[in-house]
Amino acid sequence: MSWTKDDPARLRGVRALVVEDETSLASLIGSYLERETFEVHLVHDGGAAIARAREVDPDVVVLDLGLPVLDGVEVCRQLRTFSDAYVVMLTARDDEVDKLVGLSVGADDYLTKPFSPRELVARVRAMLRRPRTSTLDRSTEEAPRTFGPLVVDAVGREVWLGDEAVPLTRTEFDLLATLAQRPQMAFSRKQLIEAVWGPSWVGDEHLVDVHIGHLRRKLDDDAVNSRFVRTVRGVGYRMGTGQ
Ligand code: CA
Repeated sequence: MSWTKDDPARLRGVRALVVEDETSLASLIGSYLERETFEVHLVHDGGAAIARAREVDPDVVVLDLGLPVLDGVEVCRQLRTFSDAYVVMLTARDDEVDKLVGLSVGADDYLTKPFSPRELVARVRAMLRRPRTSTLDRSTEEAPRTFGPLVVDAVGREVWLGDEAVPLTRTEFDLLATLAQRPQMAFSRKQLIEAVWGPSWVGDEHLVDVHIGHLRRKLDDDAVNSRFVRTVRGVGYRMGTGQ
């Protein structure tokens, strides 16, 4: 089956959880997502967010930072122990994003209030349209790639380090799979954004560095003497050999 670029049917059945204590804003976001034919769940505090996320297994979570009971940071941390949902964090101020990035909370994207619901929907759609395999070379996409002790299985969407499966978020996985598919190529941040977030994504390229940082931590990799994800100075990143 093929989809046109903006076919809403492609997004039917997508479950979205909106976590926002300002009920009018929650409803507004919810109505925009429902218009996209998403199945929308609204909750208004962090405790309810975790309970509902366990129940409905959302594909997308729109998560306010300032929440009663548990704040957005804690919700995101707990969520990441059982979910690989795409998380868009809503923040009240621009400078909070830098702080959050430093905390490595595991959100995929950030939007600062006030934002247009259209912008939010555009980002979510771009993410859900991410090419799972279309950026990969068809002739070689079947075989898992090996880099020393690291195995990247793009088809099964699994990553192994030695005997251990490495739990990655969607964004981390897509970044690694993109690099692993062309291990000789040095990717610019812009190229990685296009491959992982999609060409229509508008935001700070710094987000790539944040996710690479998380990825390295999970792979027990070192930024300076990297085995798996090498920094290419003045360019971006490329795959390491695993040595
Ligand atoms: Ca709030």
